[in-house]
Amino acid sequence: MDEKWIAETLYPDYGQRFRILRTLVTRTTPFQELAIHETAAFGRMLTLDGVCQTTERDEFFYHEMMTHLPILAHGEARKVLIVGGGDGGILEEALKHRTVEKATMVEIDGAVIELSREWLPSICGRAFHDPRTELIVGDGIAFVAETAERYDVILVDSTDPMGAAEPLFGPAFYAQCRRCLAPRGILVTQNGVPFLQPDEFSGTYRHLEPLFPDAGFYFVPVPTYVGGMMALAWASLDPASRQVDGATLAARFREAAIATNYYSPEIHAAAFALPPYLAKLIG
Ligand code: SAM
Repeated sequence: MDEKWIAETLYPDYGQRFRILRTLVTRTTPFQELAIHETAAFGRMLTLDGVCQTTERDEFFYHEMMTHLPILAHGEARKVLIVGGGDGGILEEALKHRTVEKATMVEIDGAVIELSREWLPSICGRAFHDPRTELIVGDGIAFVAETAERYDVILVDSTDPMGAAEPLFGPAFYAQCRRCLAPRGILVTQNGVPFLQPDEFSGTYRHLEPLFPDAGFYFVPVPTYVGGMMALAWASLDPASRQVDGATLAARFREAAIATNYYSPEIHAAAFALPPYLAKLIG
């Protein structure tokens, strides 16, 4: 029987391909082409407009680092806002923290939530049923511009800066996120693979640096986000949050009692190390 492969469409001159065992569901939503495949190498995989969003096998790298690092750095995060994140991976990890009293998810495409709940239970778990979860199907830009709520941690788990996600990488959105942060609040955003998306990296820094007392990046290797380390943008109202000492982080991690496969207090501290080729990008 002929093997079926799909090629990722993120970059015009470079890419990866996946051998597909089964295509579980496809849907043309008002925002994007959604598909969930059973792949030979990574288990189930969600793609949006042909771009890999998350896979069962390597989702832990990204979802653990986008949630546990800022929540443990903050130390007292009770209210979390997630913009995007419709697969539920970020929500599921954030809710592992007993200190989190409410997690609000604003996802523009309800189909991503619906089909992730049905086909990706190993990623979202019971997160969408958790009484602390508030699900809003809507545009994250409009939400942060209008909400009267304040959040200790805002996590922007969006697609790449195209289509509906493009304004999520702009100064107006970041300024509104700053407005929505409680004192000592921390903003973390998905910021691509800087070796292949350097403009996204330098552009985000140019927007965040004037707005926040502490702006920068931390890094995580994600096997299916090709091209090297992935950058997560960090913007904090309290510079001390990035300087939490190892013993305190280790104590907070022990207290949280969360089993992880990538995040650790040692990885946390090392993740902020900025390689010279990236330091040059942000001067
Ligand atoms: N982890 C993935 C990554 O790093 O590329 C992202 C996963 S998640 C599926 C991305 C989500 O962002 C999608 O479900 C998409 O619908 C959502 N999204 C894009 N633009 C948005 C916006 N303006 N407001 C809210 N959600 C948005």
